[in-house]
Amino acid sequence: MYIESVPNRDSPPAILLRESYREGGKVKKRTLLNLSDWPSERIAGFKALLKGGTVIPREQEAISIIRSLPHGHVAAALGVARKIGLDRLIGPDGNRCRDLVLALAVSRILDPGSKLAAARALSPETAASSLGAELGLGPVDEEELYAALKLEYVEPELREDMGEIEAAETSTLPRLVRKENLRGTFHCHTTWSDGIESVEAMAQAALDLGLEYLGIADHSKSERQANGLDEKRVRQQAEEVNKLNARFAKEDFRVFFGTECDILGDGSLDFDDETLALFDYVVASVHQGFNMDSEKMTKRICKALAHPKLTMLGHPTGRLLLEREGYAVNMPEVIAAAAKYGKIIEINAHPYRLDMDWRLWKHARELGVKCAINPDAHNIDDLQYLGIGVGIARKGWLEKNDVINCLPLKKVEKLLGGSRFRATKTNYPTP
Ligand SMILES: [Zn+2]
Ligand SMILES: [Zn+2]
Repeated sequence: MYIESVPNRDSPPAILLRESYREGGKVKKRTLLNLSDWPSERIAGFKALLKGGTVIPREQEAISIIRSLPHGHVAAALGVARKIGLDRLIGPDGNRCRDLVLALAVSRILDPGSKLAAARALSPETAASSLGAELGLGPVDEEELYAALKLEYVEPELREDMGEIEAAETSTLPRLVRKENLRGTFHCHTTWSDGIESVEAMAQAALDLGLEYLGIADHSKSERQANGLDEKRVRQQAEEVNKLNARFAKEDFRVFFGTECDILGDGSLDFDDETLALFDYVVASVHQGFNMDSEKMTKRICKALAHPKLTMLGHPTGRLLLEREGYAVNMPEVIAAAAKYGKIIEINAHPYRLDMDWRLWKHARELGVKCAINPDAHNIDDLQYLGIGVGIARKGWLEKNDVINCLPLKKVEKLLGGSRFRATKTNYPTP
């Protein structure tokens, strides 16, 4: 690693921290950091530190460089740190970036080598006050610490090294959805299939929680073991929901009449179009035929997503945490198909599912895919899973505007009301 002054036609030379490396038997060079705006004495100190290019042990090297960086250059620091192995300094437990900024701060005040183990064991609070002392702030809390680092405050859920530091530097962090933003939910079961409460009891419980609407989505006919509804019972349930809505209308509350419709082996849905037209919305899920190869399963789900009556995809991988892996499926393709057809993907908030996984949401959101946070409730208490779902949505960078449950009743009615459901940028209302 060395510092090089590179001539620049119209301005002073660029001062670059560079390194050479070997690739395919050739020696190549790359720039690690632009030091041009550093004060000259800092660059001089840095040159001395690099000892004219002699090799410094990696950890010491990492620490030295991080220590040398001005506060507020955190993204650049991270870029260097990743390249030269700071990763190994952060976090003892594989959760290496949980408190990335704090670890970074600690690494800045470390004596090279000697206190490394101690630093790894530091609690975030201790790390924060250590840095506070370093910055001459005295004891600080997290928010003050972020401010001192010239970073927007990073909510704890986002501290996963998925670009949040860079976003904090450029003030482009999302305004994360909050539990109190939820106005209703979808995908709940009743005694019509395998739930243990009536539609009315579930709806009343949702109303008591302060929600404006509840979506009932009992199983479809192929789910015999779950008492799935055939076409005749679908019509009967529709009548019951209509009657209840006449009553609930006085309280500005509505039961949406949905179904959790099986995606059959060939990607078609478990009901014909005429039956599907009876529902306010359709959650479509895979419940059987898990043992396909990934290509077939992906085609199957994408075909379902293309169906004009499908509103949202239920628990996209079918995983049961600590019990069974999800089926083989190419999730990036599924997400792309959801974006293409304007379909919602569920966060199934049941603690055994938490599906779609939070790691996939940042990308899905960038493609404009909307989310529904669904408890998959089979009884009244299960409605509490909504809070867990919000936690997952927050880890997935989702804002209020990304989550359909944040829409008030009238706007959801309008959105679901179209005969071909599509949540596109142009038709999606602001919550
Ligand atoms: Zn299901
Ligand atoms: Zn379900």
